[in-house]
Amino acid sequence: MLKQRTLKSITRAVGVGIHSGQKVELALRPAPPDTGIVFRRVDLCPPVDIPVGVMSVSDTRMATTISPDGDPGGPKVQTIEHLLSACAGLGLDNLVIDINADEVPVLDGSAAAFVFLLQSAGIVLQDAPKRFLKVNKPVEVRQGEGKKLMWARLEPHHGYTLSFEIEFDNPAVAATGSRFVFDMGSGKYKKEIARARTFGMTADIDLMRSRGLTLGGSMDNAIVVDDYKVLNADGLRYDDEFVKHKILDAIGDMQVAGMPLMAAYTSFKGGHALNNKLLRALLADESAYEIVRFEDERQAPKGFAELAPAW
Ligand SMILES: [Zn+2]
Repeated sequence: MLKQRTLKSITRAVGVGIHSGQKVELALRPAPPDTGIVFRRVDLCPPVDIPVGVMSVSDTRMATTISPDGDPGGPKVQTIEHLLSACAGLGLDNLVIDINADEVPVLDGSAAAFVFLLQSAGIVLQDAPKRFLKVNKPVEVRQGEGKKLMWARLEPHHGYTLSFEIEFDNPAVAATGSRFVFDMGSGKYKKEIARARTFGMTADIDLMRSRGLTLGGSMDNAIVVDDYKVLNADGLRYDDEFVKHKILDAIGDMQVAGMPLMAAYTSFKGGHALNNKLLRALLADESAYEIVRFEDERQAPKGFAELAPAW
């Protein structure tokens, strides 16, 4: 049987939220089979549980935010995507995350620090079958027209691949690789994807600051690009770090489904909003998906049984 996974022990992190600028503490705890990933706002009295789910997503501007039942007026946790991406990259299914503010800390702007934390805590197999959200027919969502057109698509695939293409009207970004395809079963998440940082253009950053956003952002946790060049002294971590970060985000945004997909995901210029719209479109059509388990590991998508322990 291909089994579910959780942490072996508790691990903690402290940092600031990239949008709120607030200091925040996390405690990541092991959880029983079929718990999924649950955020617990321990600063509220009584504490409020916010289970990660497609319908819990309450805001997708700038980052992915969840609230109980997706109620935008309810308690929230924002910027969950990099932590969820790390969980997906390590094949984690069950976790309770205590958080004492409304935003996950940005740490270095990538998923690398979360991968390190989760691996340090250790990962254990649980006595319950891992579930996959298997896509049975193509689902596509689109937005905008002409130069503003963006789309995202899921297609049936015995495995889980993500293909992303970006197109930015900025010479520094355009000079880097604009398309990347990643196979989640390859075991290369930590090496090829996890270190890709979030990024922002100086013009946008000024605008966002004036609206009270990205208050915690800096060159310590983001790539900053002006009209012509990358401003960070050490440059890029990957030649194609921008598109790889979009894949890192997409992996996190898809993980709100609570289980890995069995699908080929493709996106052209998409983002958090389109990713959530895509999952909602998939779940709205009962003939488009099913939840599957593998009693025989050999029938499962290649690489998923080896994720994490092989590292
Ligand atoms: Zn991101």
